[in-house]
Amino acid sequence: MDQPYGLFINGEWTPAVDRRTYNVTDPATGAVVGICADAGEMDVKRAIDAADRAFPEWAKTTAKERAECLRKVYDGMRRLEEELAEMMTREQGKPLAESRGEVRYAADFVEWSAEEAKRIYGETIPASSPDKRIWVHRQPVGVTAAITPWNFPASMITRKIAPALAAGCTVVVKPAQQTPLTACRLVDLFHEAGFPDGVVNLVTGTDAAAIGDALLKDERVRKVGFTGSTEVGKILMRKAADTVKKISLELGGHAPFIVFEDADLKRAAEQVSASKFRNAGQTCVCANRIYVHESVADTFTRLLGAEASRLKVGNGLEEGVQIGPLIDRAAADKVEGHVKDALEKGARLVVGGTRLSEGDVHFFEPTVLADITDNMRIQQEETFGPVAPIQTFRTDEEAIAKANDSRYGLAAYFYTQDLSRTIRVAEALEFGIVGVNDGVPSTAQAPFGGMKESGLGREGGRYGVEEFLETKYISLGLK
Ligand code: ADP
Repeated sequence: MDQPYGLFINGEWTPAVDRRTYNVTDPATGAVVGICADAGEMDVKRAIDAADRAFPEWAKTTAKERAECLRKVYDGMRRLEEELAEMMTREQGKPLAESRGEVRYAADFVEWSAEEAKRIYGETIPASSPDKRIWVHRQPVGVTAAITPWNFPASMITRKIAPALAAGCTVVVKPAQQTPLTACRLVDLFHEAGFPDGVVNLVTGTDAAAIGDALLKDERVRKVGFTGSTEVGKILMRKAADTVKKISLELGGHAPFIVFEDADLKRAAEQVSASKFRNAGQTCVCANRIYVHESVADTFTRLLGAEASRLKVGNGLEEGVQIGPLIDRAAADKVEGHVKDALEKGARLVVGGTRLSEGDVHFFEPTVLADITDNMRIQQEETFGPVAPIQTFRTDEEAIAKANDSRYGLAAYFYTQDLSRTIRVAEALEFGIVGVNDGVPSTAQAPFGGMKESGLGREGGRYGVEEFLETKYISLGLK
């Protein structure tokens, strides 16, 4: 194990004020893999102080300077891909190949933001009088906070802080308690890339509510970017109201995946498997409700069952493993509860279904369930585990209605070869991301975000940078 990490405040590693620390464990073995500082309210205040002091100078830098710093971070992440990936697998559990993919995906946000920093343009609008000019300026919003989850320990951070830094904002990052090590290593890279002291700050800790409150109540923090549960997102939104902060929320999803009768079934089964079983089903865009036309349901179920039974479960550091551990006991309890409830209400087990738990380590076999009905918990709540529930439908209208019948609206997917159906269904789905014949649409240059209770705002591409900018209208009289 490496040296314990501190908090990163004003360009240096420092212990928490009360010197408290906590252990980070490997969900695949239960072993301690790192020690991090356990921040309290005073530490958060120190971090905001630093970010606030650094802001005026950072906001004045040229886009080229900011882009150059970000570019160095991108290069560093590509250079350290293997080290970062191993660290991520150790603290989070996802298979090493997925961790490598995440490091590249996370680096892509940094590269994109470096490029986009140079394209933050204002506007000149024709005035109504010859002796006036209307100028529109874009300015960084100020100090920003990023609160991130454990399922994507690198990319959820870079997706927030890279566009913030590109825009000229300073940041305080609060990673998930379970996965702070990747975040600490990333912050090292930002420091090495030459960001001035106080521009990037990091607080780790176990009391998320106290840290969150300290960030939310401080009027100097002008924007909060959050990825996590809908429940916590709502708390943050209420708290942001007191100081009218800008807020971006990437919350829960309950993604439908519709397989129409004209779909390439083999390809559809592969893509459902890719979407569903990635990160052992622990992503907010995982296919969660699989609707298959009744005429092809048997064939599709067989194909998906075959895909699922091929996946190897184990420690993500081992060669060939595709399904790592679940993050903790509560996660395994929820997955097991969903499967049990579905089976009791008449679902049919196609493959999997077994929980493999030992002490604090919890795995779950990739599972496919058929004969699913609306009254089952698995159709109502996000499972966040490797369970694929299949329900059949008869008409396009029924499939669309079922897909939209959710308080969530993050990602939806469908498979078809029919062009007019593609357009009709894509337009009818009430989701922020629609994958047509594509189970893995996320990419750095596209807008990622949800409708309804899945969130507010977008991350990625130019939309992600917009969130960190204020619009200032300057009315200029010539007389
Ligand atoms: P998950 O279920 O994925 O753990 P959470 O919404 O609980 O999702 O956590 C996402 C992030 O929000 C984590 O960094 C967590 O520590 C943080 N968090 C949890 N509760 C609060 C809270 N009350 N205020 C601020 N942040 C919180």
